[in-house]
Amino acid sequence: MSKQFVDYILAQVTARNPGEVEFHQAVREVAESVAVVIDKNPAFAKGKVLERMVEPERQIMFRVPWMDDKGEVQINRGFRVQFSSAIGPYKGGLRFHPSVYLGIIKFLGFEQIFKNALTTTPIGGGKGGSDFDPKGKSDNEVMRFCQSFMGELFRHVGADTDVPAGDIGVGGREVGYMFGQYKKLTNSFTGVLTGKGLDFGGSLVRTEATGYGMVYFTTRMLEDRKTSWKGRTVVISGSGNVAIYGIQKCQQLGANVVACSDSNGYIVDEAGIDLDTVKRIKEVERGRIKEYVQAHPKAKYFEGCSGIWTVPCDVALPSATQNELDGEAAKILVKNGCIAVAEGANMPSTPEAVDIFHEAGVSFGPAKAANAGGVATSALEMSQNSMRLNWPFEEVDARLNQIMNAIYDQCVEAAEAYGMKGNLVAGANIAGFLKVAKAMQAQGLV
Ligand code: NDP
Repeated sequence: MSKQFVDYILAQVTARNPGEVEFHQAVREVAESVAVVIDKNPAFAKGKVLERMVEPERQIMFRVPWMDDKGEVQINRGFRVQFSSAIGPYKGGLRFHPSVYLGIIKFLGFEQIFKNALTTTPIGGGKGGSDFDPKGKSDNEVMRFCQSFMGELFRHVGADTDVPAGDIGVGGREVGYMFGQYKKLTNSFTGVLTGKGLDFGGSLVRTEATGYGMVYFTTRMLEDRKTSWKGRTVVISGSGNVAIYGIQKCQQLGANVVACSDSNGYIVDEAGIDLDTVKRIKEVERGRIKEYVQAHPKAKYFEGCSGIWTVPCDVALPSATQNELDGEAAKILVKNGCIAVAEGANMPSTPEAVDIFHEAGVSFGPAKAANAGGVATSALEMSQNSMRLNWPFEEVDARLNQIMNAIYDQCVEAAEAYGMKGNLVAGANIAGFLKVAKAMQAQGLV
C-alpha cells in the first residue's frame, strides 16, 4: 500500500508540475515517510490531505524590471509561492540566485511547511525569490532591484498574511531595502519581513540562528552516541550566513572546523578555520573564499566545491545548497570515519547519500529539522514585533536552544511511534505532517 501510495502521489505531482525535479524530490521524501501515517489514519486519506498539501494555496510570478548602473534596463522574474497557511501566516525566505525557477521555490516552500510546523511556533509555509544574481552588483543596483521586487510583492505579503525573510543571496542589506520600500508603499511599520536590522525591529540572534540551531541539534545527535563536540574535526560547506555561524558555534563548543567553501572551491586549514578572516572576506568585502590563503599561507585552496567531502572529518555539515552531497561523497565520508551529518542547507544530500548514511549507521539530521533554527528565530522576531519589545541576546538564544531540543525530541518520538526508530528523516516528516494535517482537517475543506 505504501509504495502504491507514493507512486500515485508522485505520478500526480510529476504530471501537474513537469520539469520541477527538485520539487518532485522533496515530495517523494515526504510521501515515503508519511505513507504509513496515512495508512493508519483513514481520515487523512479520505480528506486527501497530502494531495492538498502538494498543491500550493497560491503561486505568484511577476516581472521585476530595474536599471543597472550603466542605465541599461534589466528584467528578472520574481516568485512567491504561498504553500500552506494551516497553522499560521505563510513564512519562508527569499532566494536571489541565477538558478532560481519555479521548481526550486516550490521544493523550498514545500519543505518549509513541515519545518515550520516542527518549530513549535505558529507559522505556515511559503518561499520566494528571483533569478537575480546579486554577485558583482553595486549596492545601488541591489537597492533598485529590491525596490522593484517589493513594488509587486507588497500586494501579497503582510505581518499577518505572509512574512518573507532571507535565504541564499538575501541578507541584511537586501531585507533592509525591501523593508524600506514596503514601508513607503503601505505607510505602515509592521513586522512584514524578518531578518531586519537591529535598529528597526530585527531580533538579536536571528543572524546566528540557523548555524547555531544546526549545531544545537547536532549536539543531541552526538549525545545519543554518547559523545560531544570536544576535539571533533568538522567540515562545513558554504561560507555564507549558515556556514559562518555554524563554524562559530562549533568552535565555541571545542570542535576543530578544518574546511569550508563557496561555489568556486574550498579551503582546508588543519590549524582550524580563522573565522575572522572568513567573515571579512565574505561579509565585508563580498569576496571569494580562495582569498583566505593569502592571509593564512599554510591553508590550502582547491578549485571545485564538491571535493570538500574528501576532507576527513567526524562531523559533516553541508550548508551551501541543494544536492551538493551525492552518493559518491557520502561513501567517502563514511570511509573516512564520519559519525554524524546534519544539514544546514535545504536538501543538500541526495536521496542516495541519505540511504548510504542510514545504512552505515551515521547519525543523520535532515534539513527541515536541523536548520529550522533560522525560521524559528524569525518567528521570535515576529513575536517581539507584535509586542513592540526587544528581548536580550541570552533570552533569544535560550529560546532557540529550547526549540532545537523540542524539534529533536519530536523527530525521535515520531520515528519511534511509527516503527522507524532512529530515522530522523522519517521522524521530522511525520511530526511536521501530523501537526499540519490535523489543523487542515479541523478547518474543513478550504
Ligand atoms: P548565503 O547566500 O549567505 O551563502 C550561501 C553559500 O553557499 C555561499 O558560500 C555560496 O557560495 C554557496 N553556494 C550557493 N549556491 C551554491 C552552489 N550552487 N554551489 C555551491 N555553493 C553554493 O546563503 P545562506 O547561508 O543563507 O544559505 C545556505 C543554505 O542554507 C541554503 O540552502 C538555504 O536555503 C539554507 N537555509 C538558510 C537559512 C537562513 O536563515 N539563512 C535558513 C534555513 C536554511 P558563493 O558565495 O560562491 O555563491
